[in-house]
Amino acid sequence: MLHSHSLAPRAVIRPHPLRAPMNFCSDCGQPVTRRVPPDDNRLRDVCAHCGTIHYQNPKMVIGSIPVWDLTGDPRVLLCRRAIEPRHGYWTLPAGFMENEETTAEAAQRETMEEAGARIELQELFSLLNVPHVHQVHLFYRARLLDLDFEAGTESLEVKLFAEHEIPWDDIAFPTVSHTLKLFFTDLAAHREGGGFGFHTMDIRKRMRE
Ligand code: ZN
Repeated sequence: MLHSHSLAPRAVIRPHPLRAPMNFCSDCGQPVTRRVPPDDNRLRDVCAHCGTIHYQNPKMVIGSIPVWDLTGDPRVLLCRRAIEPRHGYWTLPAGFMENEETTAEAAQRETMEEAGARIELQELFSLLNVPHVHQVHLFYRARLLDLDFEAGTESLEVKLFAEHEIPWDDIAFPTVSHTLKLFFTDLAAHREGGGFGFHTMDIRKRMRE
């Protein structure tokens, strides 16, 4: 583990407002305290009883860009969210990666769960760091295999959009709107004989409330 920064100044130590508080040790059930362990420079939930340090690290959010008819009249599949946050807003199918699955498996699973859509997964298209919410978002390009998609329990509706139909003001998250813009930019280049790239971006401002 690379958690050792014993010479760092104490001034950088601060609790993060979005960090979920832990009250009891998940290993032994005793109360935990928040403190900076020796040879560390961040506040951690530490169990004084069994000595376990409960590290928290960023989560992966994995999604796809399901496209129908890429070489003809291309349209992208979006889901309107039936859950908070951003209930009623549109998103690409995406969600938290589960343990014991790969990023590709997560993208396909989320696309099936939220949009009931069968896809052929293509190249990784975007990686977006969202440090203030402790997340990394990945989106794969994907070929929609048929039109028999349907809203899953986390979606109000699922629909195909041409570029001019994208509801830009009602996109749920900045990572999704950035990914869609990059996708349509590359799609235009693709039509001129170019290819799709891989894009990385850091999003540091807060998501809209
Ligand atoms: Zn413990």
